[in-house]
Order: sequence, then C-alpha cells, then structure tokens
Amino acid sequence: MADFDVIISGAGPAGCTAALALGSSGLNVALIEKERFPREKVCGDAIPAYVPKVLATINPSYRVALEGIEDKKPVSLCRYVAPDRTALDITFRENGMVCRRSVFDSFLLDLASRLDNLTVITGTPIKDVRPGSKGFAVSTGNGDELTAKLLIGCDGSAGVSKRILAPYRHEPSEGSVAVRAYFSGIKDNPPETLEFHFLKQLLPGYFWIFPLPGNEFNAGIGMPSAVVSSGKINLRDLMMKIIETDPVIGPRFSTASMKGDIKGYNLPLFTRKRKISGERFMLCGDAASLVNPATGAGIGQAMQSGRYAGWQAAECFRENDFSVEFMKSYDLTLYGKLWRSNRNYMIIRNLVLKNPVVLNLASRAGNSNRFIRKELAEKL
Ligand SMILES: Cc1cc2nc3c(=O)[nH]c(=O)nc-3n(C[C@H](O)[C@H](O)[C@H](O)COP(=O)(O)OP(=O)(O)OC[C@H]3O[C@@H](n4cnc5c(N)ncnc54)[C@H](O)[C@@H]3O)c2cc1C
Repeated sequence: MADFDVIISGAGPAGCTAALALGSSGLNVALIEKERFPREKVCGDAIPAYVPKVLATINPSYRVALEGIEDKKPVSLCRYVAPDRTALDITFRENGMVCRRSVFDSFLLDLASRLDNLTVITGTPIKDVRPGSKGFAVSTGNGDELTAKLLIGCDGSAGVSKRILAPYRHEPSEGSVAVRAYFSGIKDNPPETLEFHFLKQLLPGYFWIFPLPGNEFNAGIGMPSAVVSSGKINLRDLMMKIIETDPVIGPRFSTASMKGDIKGYNLPLFTRKRKISGERFMLCGDAASLVNPATGAGIGQAMQSGRYAGWQAAECFRENDFSVEFMKSYDLTLYGKLWRSNRNYMIIRNLVLKNPVVLNLASRAGNSNRFIRKELAEKL
C-alpha cells in the first residue's frame, strides 16, 4: 500500500497540468494513467493560443519548452465557411498551433515526469476509487492499492472518477460526438489556417480541416449526440460521404489519402455550471464537462482547470481543510474565469450555429465590417 498526499487520475492535458501546478508544493503526488505514452487521443489537435500562457503562469520555462516542440504547425488564421459557402477569414491575435495529441500530451507528461515530488504510473488503469473519512483508496489494474488525502479526477468523460464522484448527471443532450482522421494530399489549402465548414446537415456542428506539419491534415466532423442518436447517423459514413460528394470539399480530397482509420469520441459540453468538487476531490477537463459548446475545443479548459485544481490542492494542505465548503473555491475560481465567455459561446451555438440563414448573414456581415472581424478575433 503506497500513501500519497494527492492522486491525479489521467495524464491528459488536465492531469499533467494539475501535476505541474503541484510541482513546487512539496506534496507527495502520484499521476496514474491507463495508457503507455506516446498514446493517441481522438482529437482535432488544435491547441488554443492561450495554452502557452497557462503553462507560463505555472513556470515561465514551461512556455519556452512548449515553443521547442518541432512537430507542430503554427496557425494564424481561422476560416469560417457558411452554409452558402461564403468564407469569412479571421486573423488570430496570437498564433495557435496544431500538434498531434500523441506529441503534445507526451510533451506535457515528459515535463511533469521531471518533477521531484511526482510518481508517474502509466500502463495501468484506476479500477476503483473508494472515498473514506481521511481520503481515498484507489485500486489499479495491476493490483496496486494506493491511498491519498485528496484526489484530482482528470481521466476524461468516460473515466472512473467522473463515474464514481461526479455530483451531477450529464444528460445525453449536453454532449456532442465527433470523428476524425489523418490525411495527406488535401488540395487548395489556405496557409496556416484552421478551416470550419458549417454544412447545413451538420449544424450546429461542422466539418473541419486543420493543417499538420509535413503537408498532413486532421479532418473530421462533429454533431450533437442527441441528433446523431435520434437520426441513427453513422458519423464515419457521413464524413466519407461529404469527402466524396460535397461540391466544395470533395474536389479538395480527390487526390488525398487517409492515414489510418476514422476514429470517434464524445465531447462533454460546458452547457451549465455544475458542481465539480466535493470533500477531498476535484474534477477537471472532460471529467468536469468543460468542452466549449460552440467550437468543441477542450484542451485549454482542461489545462486551466488542472492548474486551478493543483493550486487549490496545495491550498487545502496549507490550511489543512478538505471540506466540501473549502473545495468549493475551486468551482468558484474556475467558473469565475470561464463562465462568462462560455455563456457567450452558448448564445452563439443556440442563436447562430443552429440557423443556416443567420450563419450566412453573419459571414457576409463579417466580410463587410472590420469591427465584427476584430471582435471575433478577440473572442477566438
Ligand atoms: C474528435 C474530437 C476532436 C476534438 N478536437 C479538439 C481540438 O481540436 N482542440 C481542442 O482544444 N479540443 C478538442 N477536443 C476536445 C479535447 O480532446 C478534450 O476536451 C481534451 O482532451 C480534454 O482533456 P482531459 O485531460 O480532460 O482528458 P483526456 O485528454 O481525455 O485525458 C484523459 C486521460 O485519462 C486517461 N484515463 C482514462 N481512464 C483512466 C483510468 N481509469 N485510469 C487512469 N487513466 C485513465 C486516458 O487514457 C487519458 O490519457 C476534441 C475532442 C474530440 C472527441
């Protein structure tokens, strides 16, 4: 039986960032991950521009290290294509990047693995989490029994910590589902651009094409889970149909070749404020349902929540307070930071993205009005 101050479940962006945020705490921390890295994660691989800042607030050297990743593609422009195919180009205020999750997540885990206070256990899942009066008992797939005074649940939307600890129910109507594949040889690509094609049959979802290094691409589609299940839609088939028959997208894929399979996963959307902490635990990232309801982006929110959870955990030990009331500061800080802009994204999703006529008008308005483009650039 190994005893830790903090156990973090899952070494995705949320879990690794939580570990980094606890790096100078002096606490004895374990990070437990079911896969061995590098591992693939089904994703669009678009890393938001503010991610370097999140890392820099923990340690400025982490931002410098991130800049050193070679296998990434900088992106400076976002192209929205409305259902009537009017394209609106928005220049980012700061460059983002597209980086395969196998590369990005390994980078984060590698950074965390250098911490003196962190024990990293990979290749075995957490099987069970049992709350007790002094903390948690955790069983892993390889038969280890661990204890911790505090648990940070970062094992994603289907993880064990959300299933056992989440003080809320995630309704199927609050999620999206998306599929993606890697391609080479897509034609007529605007340089350094994230492309979002709002095709009528996908709204409020979209078809994306994101550029990767070496003239490769991550392309995929996402839609609300409720629409997919009620219409018995097979997203893989729909994606291939668009690639083969869409009059604008089809010709661009005519000489493209797919590398590997089309893979899908769910996105737990940040549709409302939920209770994401309790006595001696906090949930982060997808385990806390923090995915942007309009764009489907979740990496940045996962890292922000991981950082706040790490800082809150250190505070709990300083104050020797693990009560429900004290843990609530985590919810308040995180929602204080994220909720306002998220609410705007909810409005965009409900009023703009669901309506092809409004999307067409918005795209035209953006093209003729510099102020709208500037506003959008600031929001992205
Ligand atoms: C198709 C698709 C495209 C997307 N595109 C983008 C995009 O372009 N940009 C963006 O910002 N977001 C995107 N997202 C959302 C993004 O992938 C997630 O929001 C993000 O990965 C959340 O990070 P996380 O650390 O919370 O969870 P995850 O990245 O899911 O990490 C959880 C980790 O926990 C591990 N784990 C799970 N169960 C256990 C267990 N029992 N024990 C131990 N470890 C466990 C997993 O192996 C994993 O490593 C996309 C999602 C999908 C499905």
